[in-house]
Amino acid sequence: MSLADITRRLRAAEAAAGRAPGAVTLIAVSKVQPPDRVEAVLAEGHRIFGENRVQEAQGRWPDFQARYSGIELHLVGPLQTNKARPAVEMFRAIHSLDRPKLAKTLARLAQDRGESPELFIQVNTGAEPQKAGCLPDDADAFVAETRALDLPLAGLMCIPPVDEDPAPHFRLLARIAERNGLAGLSMGMSDDFETAVALGATHVRVGSAIFGARPG
Ligand SMILES: *Cc1c(COP(=O)(O)O)cnc(C)c1O
Repeated sequence: MSLADITRRLRAAEAAAGRAPGAVTLIAVSKVQPPDRVEAVLAEGHRIFGENRVQEAQGRWPDFQARYSGIELHLVGPLQTNKARPAVEMFRAIHSLDRPKLAKTLARLAQDRGESPELFIQVNTGAEPQKAGCLPDDADAFVAETRALDLPLAGLMCIPPVDEDPAPHFRLLARIAERNGLAGLSMGMSDDFETAVALGATHVRVGSAIFGARPG
């Protein structure tokens, strides 16, 4: 696979779902990938990337940003409150808002800075104990709480359980978003992004299918 293949498949999935070409944002998840693979995708013209660790992103993106313009970074991994400030300084969007304490910290930073990244609330659609995200039953209340803090809430995000059909999880996420009037749906990864697009994804997060298997 490559960026060109994935882009072609994404355009086909959009067309099949009756969506406009480019309606779905492709986030190339570059976590842990060697810099030369990331640079190859930059050289092909892609500018939207996802990372799952603030520290890793801080370590390598300033150099790329000095050499390529228009880079847009999305945080797709868990965010610790003590990393919130560097995260809001570096990321255009945060897909892992999962608890009130983090929302309050982000709201305080937004007031200090006069701006905030777009936020997606992560919903643990499979209610897996080891996984981040608010529980589906708590999502409506957390959406309301986030909005009451005046934060720019773009939508919802989920990571379905491995080894399960992702479709019911994508449908559940879409239902929660719809009843809360949220347009953004961050769902779909290398193995299931076409299914996610068919079920309404606005942002897909694709790593290994673009860059190759992650080392280690
Ligand atoms: C790693 C990761 C991805 C990309 O996974 P692939 O299976 O390599 O496409 C997407 N979303 C999140 C939250 C991730 O941590």
